[in-house]
Amino acid sequence: MDKKYIVANWKMNPQTWAEAEQILDFVDDYLGSLGESKEFSLIFCPPFVFLEEAGKVLKTSHFEHEAFLGAQDIFWEDTGADTGEISGPMLNKLGAEYVIVGHSERRWKLGEPDETVNKKLKAILRNAMVPIVCVGERVRDGNFKEFLKEQVEKTFAGLTPDDIGKCIIAYEPVWAISSNPGARPDTPESAIESIHMIREVLIGNWKLEIGNLPKVLYGGSVTSKNAADFIGQKEIDGILVGGASVNKDEFVKILSQI
Ligand code: PEP
Repeated sequence: MDKKYIVANWKMNPQTWAEAEQILDFVDDYLGSLGESKEFSLIFCPPFVFLEEAGKVLKTSHFEHEAFLGAQDIFWEDTGADTGEISGPMLNKLGAEYVIVGHSERRWKLGEPDETVNKKLKAILRNAMVPIVCVGERVRDGNFKEFLKEQVEKTFAGLTPDDIGKCIIAYEPVWAISSNPGARPDTPESAIESIHMIREVLIGNWKLEIGNLPKVLYGGSVTSKNAADFIGQKEIDGILVGGASVNKDEFVKILSQI
């Protein structure tokens, strides 16, 4: 069986590198206690300022070949006068292999439209990194399937089937993300329904072959209490963990469910 992906999206946390290092050391010790039998691949996505140091730590000890470095965002141009932005070649030099794109906090809080997500997604692929593409409806209303279909179509517009096959998709219903008021996790059953729909749109519009379908993860209020319910489903290739990924005890408890 393929290993499950566990993506740790640290968002704008923790506040210091010392705290970040503590989280990594704690997880590293846990990996050491597992020996050879790891059923998952870990992708840590720290804030930009910790990427370089985190990248060095992930090349050592029990992390080596088990854990990978990801960035939380990218700019769509590779060079230019773009104040405040970080380019694909810069991320490459820091050793990032994955980049989150289309996260709902960027789509909704910062107003990034699908067209911007699409340009960033192309920049990630152009720079030979793996996009972790977040999609998900903002509200679960009678229209949510149409919303999701259109979001997927616009997000992946202009990509070849091969390119889409290289992506990891994270289905993250926005209402389930823990930082939103009243958030609650989706159920595995209804997450699987949405994941099926996403796969159908890709197969229908891009004629993707079954062997070339991207992996699809679930994200939204995953904790040690529900991680096994999502991870245990064959249709769900892993989880994207936000809030709980910077709580070292809780994150290791999540890993212990796999
Ligand atoms: C996220 O930020 O993508 C996320 C899933 O957050 P949380 O796990 O905190 O709901």
